[in-house]
Amino acid sequence: MKEKEFATIGEYLYWRYANMAMAHVALKNSREKYEVADYMIRAKLYKGLCTGNMNIASLYDDEKYKLNNISCCYCGGSNELTLDHIIPKFSGGKDTGDNIMYACKTCNSSKNKNDLLVWYQKRNEFPPILVLRRYLKLAFINLKEAEKLDFPIDQLENNNRLFRIDLLPYQFPQPNLLRL
Ligand SMILES: [Zn+2]
Repeated sequence: MKEKEFATIGEYLYWRYANMAMAHVALKNSREKYEVADYMIRAKLYKGLCTGNMNIASLYDDEKYKLNNISCCYCGGSNELTLDHIIPKFSGGKDTGDNIMYACKTCNSSKNKNDLLVWYQKRNEFPPILVLRRYLKLAFINLKEAEKLDFPIDQLENNNRLFRIDLLPYQFPQPNLLRL
């Protein structure tokens, strides 16, 4: 599938968010494959986000998943749990709850100072939806606060210090191959 054309950094992020939301819904509904209804959700969400009629759900909205799930957000294991900075402190990631998730000691030390998406790429793995969702939201909040969402898309590379938004996926594996 060919990538869409985007005018702004905001549109680029909205398209990624819409694809992720579609995958999330299909996974929650235990679908084996994406169906017409899923593509309709994606189209509606993307359009709504671009026109400002819809918003990216708050981080608060994701807390319900974390509360019930005291395990490593990266591998799902529960051995030697630690707290991991999703955006490494080394790269300027904040020491706040939004940027912290449970990780087992093995994943935490393997990820170390790597960017999350670079780390998954090295492992040749697709990130769990909730991990990707958190990363995308943090990137969105960061760019929104810096008032960069309306910047032209060709400035994407210059605005990439904290997040590798260029690595955010827009093509997702079929839902039966995804995990939360
Ligand atoms: Zn782990």
